[in-house]
Amino acid sequence: MPATIDLHCHSTISDGMYSPEELVAYAYEQGLKVMALTDHDDMGGLARARVAAEQLGMQFINGVEISVTWKNRTLHIVGLKVNPEFAPLKDKLATVRQGRLERAAIIAKGLEDAGISGCLEGAKAIAGAGIVTRSHFARYLVEAGHVKDIKTVFKKYMVKGKPGFVNHVWMPLEEAITLIKDSGGTAVIAHPGRYDLGRTNLHLLMHEFRMLGGEAIEVVTGSHNPPQYQQFAMIAHRFSLKASLGSDFHGPGMSFMPMGRIQDLPTNCVPVWQGWEEAKALN
Ligand code: AMP
Ligand code: MN
Ligand code: MN
Ligand code: MN
Repeated sequence: MPATIDLHCHSTISDGMYSPEELVAYAYEQGLKVMALTDHDDMGGLARARVAAEQLGMQFINGVEISVTWKNRTLHIVGLKVNPEFAPLKDKLATVRQGRLERAAIIAKGLEDAGISGCLEGAKAIAGAGIVTRSHFARYLVEAGHVKDIKTVFKKYMVKGKPGFVNHVWMPLEEAITLIKDSGGTAVIAHPGRYDLGRTNLHLLMHEFRMLGGEAIEVVTGSHNPPQYQQFAMIAHRFSLKASLGSDFHGPGMSFMPMGRIQDLPTNCVPVWQGWEEAKALN
């Protein structure tokens, strides 16, 4: 039986394909009872998604996926049950989005130097009112016929050492955890299996995250394979962290998983939603 909760997905407010309302309707059709919207560095879709979810009788949880720099690497920290009106968090994310615009101009310059023009305008046009991410550049390169698919764009252009990559400095881990917690939320390490940290750094991250007040890691995510579900269930146990679950859905045909298909947490995990009012519908 697939899980009926999904605590990680994206709308057009960041790099998802569906508007907040469309995303909620889709999640409902897929049989979900509880969902969190976790756009990158932006809480602007939460109020809209909540209204849509309430109309359908679904439980909605405020979320955000914050870009963080830790030891010169980019990590993603999901905040669940954050307060979108909490000014320090809201203001900081506005600054992060400003930084994203500056980064986008540098990415475009890199691609320009590699012989591909019009990327900034192209990526911004695809992003619309939402933030500009590498996904939007990738979509532009595919739509303009430069590269055959998104996966290839990332490999050839958008990762470390390639012309469209910028070593951007995001907010420190400690600040993200503190802002999430101070707003009333719970900090979760997103897709820990994706960072390629090696055992020593992985353990160091888990320890530091826990010491700073982090509470959970994603165990079941569209970014992990089933052996990693077991691996990260063990790590959660070892570091006294709770476990989260989410598809990381971005849209049909995009990378990561569709909603409503992901399996439940391994039984040895403590769910991050344990004791939450919104999750009573799951029992
Ligand atoms: P950004 O936060 O602007 O660096 O963009 C990161 C986003 O790009 C991630 O959240 C994913 O949605 C997407 N992404 C990163 N790597 C890949 C990849 N290899 N293939 C497809 N999408 C990717
Ligand atoms: Mn994304
Ligand atoms: Mn992520
Ligand atoms: Mn995500």
